[in-house]
Amino acid sequence: MITEQVKRQFIQIVGAENYDDSKAGRLVYSYDATPNFQSLPDAVIAPRNTKEVSEIVKICNEHRIPIVPRGSGTNLCAGTCPTEGGIVIIFKHMNRILEIDEENLTVTVQPGVITLDLIQAVEAKGLFYPPDPSSMKISTIGGNINENSGGLRGLKYGVTRDYVMALEVVLANGDIIRTGGKLAKDVAGYDLTRLFVGSEGTLGIITEATLKLIPMPETKKTMLALYEDLEAAARSVSAIIANKIIPTTLEFLDQPTLQVVESFVNIGLPTDVKAVLLIEQDGPKEVVERDMKAMARICREQHAISVQVAKTEEEANNLRTARRSALSALARLKPTTILEDATVPRSQIANMVKAINDIAKKYNVNICTFGHAGDGNLHPTCPTDVRDKDELHRVEQAFEDIFAKAIELGGTITGEHGVGVMKAPYLEWKLGKEGIAAMQAIKRALDPNNIMNPGKVFAKSTRKRVVVTR
Ligand SMILES: Cc1cc2nc3c(=O)[nH]c(=O)nc-3n(C[C@H](O)[C@H](O)[C@H](O)COP(=O)(O)OP(=O)(O)OC[C@H]3O[C@@H](n4cnc5c(N)ncnc54)[C@H](O)[C@@H]3O)c2cc1C
Repeated sequence: MITEQVKRQFIQIVGAENYDDSKAGRLVYSYDATPNFQSLPDAVIAPRNTKEVSEIVKICNEHRIPIVPRGSGTNLCAGTCPTEGGIVIIFKHMNRILEIDEENLTVTVQPGVITLDLIQAVEAKGLFYPPDPSSMKISTIGGNINENSGGLRGLKYGVTRDYVMALEVVLANGDIIRTGGKLAKDVAGYDLTRLFVGSEGTLGIITEATLKLIPMPETKKTMLALYEDLEAAARSVSAIIANKIIPTTLEFLDQPTLQVVESFVNIGLPTDVKAVLLIEQDGPKEVVERDMKAMARICREQHAISVQVAKTEEEANNLRTARRSALSALARLKPTTILEDATVPRSQIANMVKAINDIAKKYNVNICTFGHAGDGNLHPTCPTDVRDKDELHRVEQAFEDIFAKAIELGGTITGEHGVGVMKAPYLEWKLGKEGIAAMQAIKRALDPNNIMNPGKVFAKSTRKRVVVTR
């Protein structure tokens, strides 16, 4: 609840034009990309700099007002849904690339910078920022850091965490701290930078980040391997890695996903096969040629019915774009799209794909699967309708079975989408009571009044663990 006096204080800090408590303004920020979650904030505030963020946070801490930091709201775990009201902080004024340092190979940005803008700005200088979530045209760096987002290039280059070198953070008491630096080596104290990466806005507000860059790879090639058998595709993934080749990209799409994506992008994707692998390699020309030949051979040995190398960069780009539009394409099928990201060790991909298909049959629901197969990170996706309570119940049961199976196979409940509200009831399945207690101790130490994105990550109660029998 924001009193008139507190409202006046906020306006004094950011100006009336950057404070919005109108019904329409609050409605816009009442939901994010997660289906079936909505809750109104009391106000939306757009600070212009770190000092303003700090002053806002101090007031919130004094009056116990919840704060939801928000990038573009593309998260899929209800991480920016203001479930406990309070203020939403947006970074539309803090969206500048501050510096590209070609000597230290770093880029320093404000949190509201759009991921693709950063990628393009550094590529213009022959540099490379690999983390490329499919949402990169709209997602922000602040969101990427707080979800530790991954992308198509994660297999070879890692995820956002691997590129965050330094952070400026406003803590829950309003203190401003700086972690890390432009340093390849730094062991001065706890690794606070890593603590804030993936913390989903629950520990502090990131107001600046310095990210690592690498030189642009010399060349890149893309191919598509087609399969009549889902498990043969999954086996190819393990076989490529077992042959000591780490491609840049190793993505999996099953037939239902392929059909929907093709009708969305119309680029002539094969829709009569059971699965495809989208494979890319980059690096020096000779290495790329050698790896592409070896991977084509391995795919054929694993019974790929055809392996097609993209002839032009335009064709390769179409294939990447098609993969990146999988979620948007599937979202056209039914009013509600529930997308998950159960993740297993990559040697278990074939078992996980089979389990997902069996679970879909068991609950009589339609599950399309695509994802970062090389990372063991699958996106079983269910087009459904929240108004159909019976089907929604079966979908929820199916996803519970999928999470349980992923854990049983040595995996996790989320590989890149975060916990938020959605996965909070399942977090204990992964971390155990003791793991949750350790995290809660950190949370209490940094945010004793629980104002930073409350209601996220920690659930009020844990779901009973299901045993998947088959
Ligand atoms: C079509 C689509 C495709 C996607 N593809 C991928 C993918 O390939 N890989 C992947 O990993 N994810 C993917 N996502 C999920 C999502 O895009 C990512 O999690 C992304 O990083 C979120 O960025 P955002 O700017 O929208 O952040 P938001 O959704 O606004 O916020 C995400 C979290 O970060 C916190 N936060 C945001 N800014 C700050 C800040 N400055 N300080 C502190 N906390 C902050 C929020 O409180 C929230 O907890 C996809 C989503 C969609 C809709």
